[in-house]
Amino acid sequence: MSQIDNQMTEEIKKRRTFAIISHPDAGKTTLTEKFLLYGGAINLAGTVKGRKAAKHAVSDWMEIEKERGISVTSSAMQFNYDGFCINILDTPGHQDFSEDTYRTLMAADSAVMVIDGSKGVEAQTIKLFKVCVMRHIPIFTFINKFDREARDPYELLDEIEEVLGIRTCPVNWPIGCGKSFKGVYDRFSKKITTFTAAMGGAKEVDSQEFDVDCADVDSLIGQDYHQQLRDDIELLDGASDELDMERVRIGDLSPVFFGSALTNFGVETFLEHFLKMTTPPLSRKTLDGKIDPFRPDFSAFVFKIQANMNKAHRDRIAFMRICSGKFEAGMEVNHVQGGKKIRLTQPQQLMAQDRKIVEEAYAGDIIGIFDPGIFAIGDTLCASNEKFQFEGIPTFAPEHFARVRQVDTMKRKQFIKGVNQIAQEGAIQIFQEFNSGMEEIIVGVVGVLQFEVLTYRLRNEYNVEVILEKLPFEHIRWVENPGEVDVARIQGTSDMKRIKDLKNNPLLLFINSWSVGMVLDRNPALKLSEFGRA
Ligand code: GDP
Repeated sequence: MSQIDNQMTEEIKKRRTFAIISHPDAGKTTLTEKFLLYGGAINLAGTVKGRKAAKHAVSDWMEIEKERGISVTSSAMQFNYDGFCINILDTPGHQDFSEDTYRTLMAADSAVMVIDGSKGVEAQTIKLFKVCVMRHIPIFTFINKFDREARDPYELLDEIEEVLGIRTCPVNWPIGCGKSFKGVYDRFSKKITTFTAAMGGAKEVDSQEFDVDCADVDSLIGQDYHQQLRDDIELLDGASDELDMERVRIGDLSPVFFGSALTNFGVETFLEHFLKMTTPPLSRKTLDGKIDPFRPDFSAFVFKIQANMNKAHRDRIAFMRICSGKFEAGMEVNHVQGGKKIRLTQPQQLMAQDRKIVEEAYAGDIIGIFDPGIFAIGDTLCASNEKFQFEGIPTFAPEHFARVRQVDTMKRKQFIKGVNQIAQEGAIQIFQEFNSGMEEIIVGVVGVLQFEVLTYRLRNEYNVEVILEKLPFEHIRWVENPGEVDVARIQGTSDMKRIKDLKNNPLLLFINSWSVGMVLDRNPALKLSEFGRA
């Protein structure tokens, strides 16, 4: 192997690329800040906070961007820690939650799920989690806020297992919580770390670590807690799943950690275990085989397109995940779906709030490329003499629907162009009546905020006023086998509506979720799917 190949291999081996997911307020931002703090990417934890001002008085699209700061303008943050080069993919939460959130998970090799110890598994975590399960990527759980009153840890684990359908294996175990939070017990090193809060930007936590068998345990954590811990250890060793790394790697078993992000307790331990348990970038599937990340030729796919990051230029940035080899600024690549060779100029990478130009990047990294309007979600870029396509990114089921009409029918062209371009960026999905063309369109979105963004952008960028009429549907299913069933003759329910996408694929909309099952019962040959094909 040449020296250059060797260096590339070493760089790729160091990469760890994960998405961090949580229900709003569980502590994702706080945990991310602490990670960055360990990596020295920012000096003081707190810098990532920009977006938390979010009130979303949605009158100005740019304002939305400004308010959301990092969650919109960044897709990934990179930092170095202990010889690793770590890429964190941020997944927007709150009401700006959109398909982007799901797609971002496609670019990750593993996911960290942050759960609020006083609340347990919350609605949004379930949706995101399903996408991770679908991809069979490793999922690590950080149960946060143990410095506050928390729920019983056994109950929390049961809930994760039941609601999310994944087994759990606690790596550490909390001793008390809230005012009587004594610390955590590491089940593998058999050590207790006492709880001491390190607030603000402090990196060092002044905790003590001692052996669970040492003589002073009673005096250090109190006799009652010691007895409780002994019982817990016995119970866990007897009843919990073993830490089988094979099962972790296929997303069947989630290693669980307890801690407190705010007080910086248990964060570094988590990071260390996490880095040991995860792998460098894995191979990625193409339509005809797998691409090994260590092959020297560059390849990547686009997972997110961000419009209007700069109002003056109206530019778009296409974010891509590098899947193999090395990227060099200005290199010529083959844009497979576009059928053209292009030069990748001005590549950008994000570190906390700063954007910088990158000269080189490796498999596992995320870069943003200036997009003159040629890229679509899921597109493949590869070496200029190659031509393969990565598996498409699924289209995720929208949950809110509206009929959209333009006020001035003379502006038909702009209207169609506008909705098409916004749909291409992936912010909305557009559908048509089953039996007609584009006279009226039905828009589906994952997060309701997207409706307001759509109205705003059509007015400001395309000079088109629209009227939006919300529809009561909440469930959408793609007909998987339109060749085998006559969609017009499907025995429906009273709340079912037939529509089609722009490629004429038939879909069904429902108001009630139980109608989905009923329609399947009434039409035994029919196959429905929650995910569309990209
Ligand atoms: P996100 O919406 O998931 O990104 O949540 P944030 O990181 O912004 O946290 C939401 C709130 O919970 C903030 O007020 C944090 O200060 C607080 N918080 C986060 N982690 C902890 C923790 O470990 N303990 C306590 N007591 N509060 C926390």
